Amino acid sequence: MMERFTGSFTQQEPIPEAGIDAALAVLRHGRLHRYNMATGEVGETALLEEEFAAYLGARYCLALASGGAAMACALRALQVRPGEPVLSNAFTLAPVPGAIASLGARPVFVEVTDDLTLDLAHLEAQAQATGARVLLLSHMRGHVGDMDALMALCHRLGLRVVEDCAHTMGARWKGVASGRHGAIGCYSTQTYKHMNSGEGGFLVTDDAELAARAVLLSGSYMLYARHRAAPGPEVFEGLKLDIPNVSSRMDNLRAAILRPQIGMLDDRRARWRALYQGMESGLAGVPGLRLIPRPQHEDYVGSSFQFLLPGWDAARIAALVAGAAARGVELKWFGAADPQGFTSRYSHWRYAAPEVLPQTDRLLAGLIDMRLPLTFTTDDVAQIARIIGDEVAQAARADRPGLVVAPAAD
Ligand SMILES: *Cc1c(COP(=O)(O)O)cnc(C)c1O
Repeated sequence: MMERFTGSFTQQEPIPEAGIDAALAVLRHGRLHRYNMATGEVGETALLEEEFAAYLGARYCLALASGGAAMACALRALQVRPGEPVLSNAFTLAPVPGAIASLGARPVFVEVTDDLTLDLAHLEAQAQATGARVLLLSHMRGHVGDMDALMALCHRLGLRVVEDCAHTMGARWKGVASGRHGAIGCYSTQTYKHMNSGEGGFLVTDDAELAARAVLLSGSYMLYARHRAAPGPEVFEGLKLDIPNVSSRMDNLRAAILRPQIGMLDDRRARWRALYQGMESGLAGVPGLRLIPRPQHEDYVGSSFQFLLPGWDAARIAALVAGAAARGVELKWFGAADPQGFTSRYSHWRYAAPEVLPQTDRLLAGLIDMRLPLTFTTDDVAQIARIIGDEVAQAARADRPGLVVAPAAD
């Protein structure tokens, strides 16, 4: 009988009991708004910011309503203007170009390499062609490129960097936390990321003026002194009448759910890594399938897994995805012509009038993705890898005209 996987690719772990207890306490006292505090009380949101800043070694932290809101707030704090070009990855998730478009600015996409990181030569070319001064760098699917080379290039080009760390919360490059290389790091606490409050986000920075701008933008009214991970009132003094309120605050209920999860991030990274490496060894040697190498300096969080099917035609990939789905294995194919569920193809963001990027097109045509939720065991991962290996072999045998079976590149 054919093996079938019966687990769920979208089932996350429950909220820790400490988070549930803290959330119930907030519900019982009713002070959900972050600035609604009893005398002498310190709100959950202010504490969350202080603790997340400490975890990352950042001077300032602001909690927000979503990861997308954090990125838009970061761009506003950098005073990106309507019509201004903002560079970003051609392969990322829709909220990234959406954050740029929300300011009336113009996303300019940069090619992505076969290792799913930004192509630095194309970054330089796009920066020079457009005169952009900001890069919204997405560590898409947790692949952190060579941050030394990228930051040196951005420095030379005069580019300020905002890091989208939705998939790298808890990851590091040469020991430096992801989000701590650029001017501002942005994070998401949406259910499918590395901490779960349903919706939510953070930004962190060491720059006092950027932090003060972000706090005012988030909708602090004149209550910014109630923050614990923000600069002192003197920094706000010259800014407070010039910054619009773009309400996007975090609330105390979600902050209460999140606080106990900060201390779990490092353990979660280790558990994700075990699942990731299980999948990597399960798929190693499957002919026709290319795994993505992980650089030695990258301390990644393996919450999802990608592989490439170089040279496969669309019909055969569609057959593989359907065959795997029939056996309970949910694969996302980024080369599909029509967006299904969610999309990460730049050509689906027509509002940005993207130019054609042949290298990224070629990559996405053969790119497969799957989630690895922490509810999976290493046995689950081994079974999923066996099913994929089986289905890849079947697709290779299938008698299709025009079929080219490319050998794995490595
Ligand atoms: C999820 C995600 C975000 C932020 O998403 P929100 O739902 O707005 O929190 C940003 N970038 C990437 C790559 C993502 O996957």
